[in-house]
Amino acid sequence: MKKDIRSLVDLQSVDLEIKKLDEEMAVGGSELEKQRATIEERKKNIKEYVAKRELCDSRNKEIEVELEAGLEMIKDRQAKLMNVQTNREYQSLLKEIEDAKNSNKQREDESVRLMEQIEFVQNKEEEQSRLCDEEEKSLAVDTAAFDDNVAKLNSKKTKIMKTRDEQVLKVKADQLKRYEQLRERRKGVAVVGVTDGVCLGCFMNVPPQLYNEVLKEDKLHSCPTCNRMLYYRPAGEEA
Ligand SMILES: [Zn+2]
Repeated sequence: MKKDIRSLVDLQSVDLEIKKLDEEMAVGGSELEKQRATIEERKKNIKEYVAKRELCDSRNKEIEVELEAGLEMIKDRQAKLMNVQTNREYQSLLKEIEDAKNSNKQREDESVRLMEQIEFVQNKEEEQSRLCDEEEKSLAVDTAAFDDNVAKLNSKKTKIMKTRDEQVLKVKADQLKRYEQLRERRKGVAVVGVTDGVCLGCFMNVPPQLYNEVLKEDKLHSCPTCNRMLYYRPAGEEA
């Protein structure tokens, strides 16, 4: 039985190594995902700034045309002033000129506000584009490093998987079945040590009687709390 327990412990340690490799790859992958998401968000912002700037630009062009038309009208009315017949007609022309001048003044004010907005948006756009470029460069570097690392981790994993295949052969079929079931249900950890009466899987005390049984190592026992298979692990000994 001692040998059976040892085989399970060894298999568990191989599986934990594999788990660590998988987690390392996953962490690196999700780091890159975050970077990609940031870049996407920034590109969306840039698009919005561009759209806003284009809107301001086109309104500004409209204003130019309107201003020109306003000036034409003022010139026209001023020319007519020279040939008016009645005071009423004269007053009416003066009013039209006054109104046209006011309208143009408002347009000029609007144009100034638009120019300010365009400048603001343009600065934002440039700032975001610069950040986006930097982030894309850094993403490219990190992606290359990640791919490199994944290749290394995968070759490590291939080796460990071979060790695992060998290790699996040493474990009895019924024990292996139980081991795999537990591993699935218990976050990849099916076999755990008991040190000083504490299960190192769930960190609960195991009953003294059971602890004594585990110490004897003549039968495979389970933790009454987390159900994992137990082996005796002296204090201070690495798993
Ligand atoms: Zn436990």
